[in-house]
Amino acid sequence: MNLKSKIRSVLDFPIEGIDFKDITTVLKDKEALRETIKQMAEKVSNREVDLVVGMEARGFLLGTPLAYEIGAGFVPVRKPGKLPAETISYEYELEYGTDKLEMHRDAIFKGQRVLIVDDLLATGGTAVATAKMIEELGGDIVGALFFIELDELKGREKLSGYSVESIVQY
Ligand code: IMP
Repeated sequence: MNLKSKIRSVLDFPIEGIDFKDITTVLKDKEALRETIKQMAEKVSNREVDLVVGMEARGFLLGTPLAYEIGAGFVPVRKPGKLPAETISYEYELEYGTDKLEMHRDAIFKGQRVLIVDDLLATGGTAVATAKMIEELGGDIVGALFFIELDELKGREKLSGYSVESIVQY
């Protein structure tokens, strides 16, 4: 199945000049959803994964079914103030200003094998912030897996040192 043809591109969202990749058209298609999770699972079939860590919000939508499929647990990374128990956080630079992500302090035990999963890799800032928190908790990052990768933004370079994979590239 051609999964790229199922992704909708929306020009000028959320701001002018951005060509937003919309995966809701993949999620609502029963064959495309199953195929997406299957292809993502195949990418990591040779790796032992204890936990999938997914980033708010679309990382939850693909990360949880993937974790179920490969027999791993799922851990959410969230925007500040959303997680109820004790958290750790990581602040990172955006083009204008900063952003912050949080994770539960007890989400990962030392030595657990962790796979980072998100819908899309752009500049890599979100994934790097996530990797820093996982490592602060003692997790062992086995790779980062994305449904979509925007090659031009070179997120892969920011994640050098990790195994980075994606299913669809633009
Ligand atoms: P990065 O931190 O620049 O790599 O941006 C990646 C994050 O922004 C991910 O959590 C994505 O969900 C989100 N993102 C950026 N661009 C898009 C897009 O075109 N479609 C969907 N999500 C996007």
